[in-house]
Amino acid sequence: MAYSYEAPVSQSLFDRASVVTPGGVNSPVRAFRAVGGTPRFMVSGTGPYLTDADGREYVDLVCSWGPMILGHSHPEVIAAVQEAVSRGTSFGTPGEGEVALAEEIVARIEPVEQVRLVSSGTEATMSAIRLARGFTGRAKVVKFAGCYHGHVDALLAAAGSGVATFGLPDTPGVTGATAGDTVVLPYNDLDAVRAAFAAHPGEIACVITEASPGNMGVVPPADGFNAGLKELCAANGALYISDEVMTGFRTSKAGWYGVDGVRPDLMTFGKVMGGGFPAAAFGGRGDVMAHLAPAGPVYQAGTLSGNPVATAAGLAQLRLLDDAAYAKIDAVSAELRSLVGDALGKEGVAHTVAAASNMFSVFFTDRPVRDYEDAKKQDVFRFTAFFHSMLEQGVYLPPSAFESWFVSTAHDERAVERIAAALPAAARAASEATA
Ligand code: PLP
Repeated sequence: MAYSYEAPVSQSLFDRASVVTPGGVNSPVRAFRAVGGTPRFMVSGTGPYLTDADGREYVDLVCSWGPMILGHSHPEVIAAVQEAVSRGTSFGTPGEGEVALAEEIVARIEPVEQVRLVSSGTEATMSAIRLARGFTGRAKVVKFAGCYHGHVDALLAAAGSGVATFGLPDTPGVTGATAGDTVVLPYNDLDAVRAAFAAHPGEIACVITEASPGNMGVVPPADGFNAGLKELCAANGALYISDEVMTGFRTSKAGWYGVDGVRPDLMTFGKVMGGGFPAAAFGGRGDVMAHLAPAGPVYQAGTLSGNPVATAAGLAQLRLLDDAAYAKIDAVSAELRSLVGDALGKEGVAHTVAAASNMFSVFFTDRPVRDYEDAKKQDVFRFTAFFHSMLEQGVYLPPSAFESWFVSTAHDERAVERIAAALPAAARAASEATA
């Protein structure tokens, strides 16, 4: 595909980056490989806008993949960071900021009795799984195809559909032994979970699921799915781990738990709670968390865990996220969903706008999407054309058809109007695209 617009400064930065960094990026999706073209190197962000190294401004619908729920450079978050930085950047000792952040999380999310702070969502899920294994004395982990839990070895496993399929490593470097304790099941399929428990009695330590998946595009849990998981785990002595790294503090004040009320044994958080800094967490039942070092025998640690600057940013952001903030984000999300649906409808493009609270994504298919296999059946080439048209018109979408779009409290009428103005041409590009 040829692009009618250019980004020469970004391209030259990408060329430099590609010499010293594999693929030119520090996280693969940023390289634009799914859509082609030059990844935009951003230099600044304000409210709902990002500015790239070529001086072009974009309405940002990625929001750093979720964290920037108040928009970029929110004055109160920046002030909290500046105040924290002025006192030093890392002490390697306990500090009040991390206590306050933990208290805020515990206060918001009722099933979390205790919480441990870490630095990334990957660390949170990795540690939660270790804790579940240590607590239950069991080895196997159930996960769902299409759910992403960070690049934890044991969770980088996927397998074809089918009941109780053993995970095959999804990437070189993950050994069969590591992935062999992972059972990968189709999402939204409680029968498959029942069959896995029957096939491995007394062996499954935990079931981990995205509270509402956003990593295969947005595919919300079917009615009763999370509750069914919880019940099956309880009946079989396994822990139910709800990964809220993406949904936590985004889909409601109490994340997805605030939406479906299903009580997990353990939960993981990241993104929003760090206010744009590397901060994440896992927490849950007090009796389970008590197994964690130094209170208990399951080891887990981190040089920068509870970092004072990151916790100050996270705390400032969470404290600004009140009911009014969520109402605003929900309203902007609803408005954008209807604008996107209308534009694609007018051009006769088969599509489904899928939403989970204010997270949403567009599947270029009109068939129902309940799991990863369904998601993969969309016309990805139409997304590619749509994406590039939006980019050219100054709207920055996630560079993949399998990602959630994110909005913030800063997405005001002006930002929405700019998106609305770009949609007709993008929908036309999607309709004219060929495979
Ligand atoms: N879990 C979920 C649901 C995620 O969406 C992600 C990242 O996108 C992770 C875990 C991993 O988080 P991190 O990228 O901070 O390691």
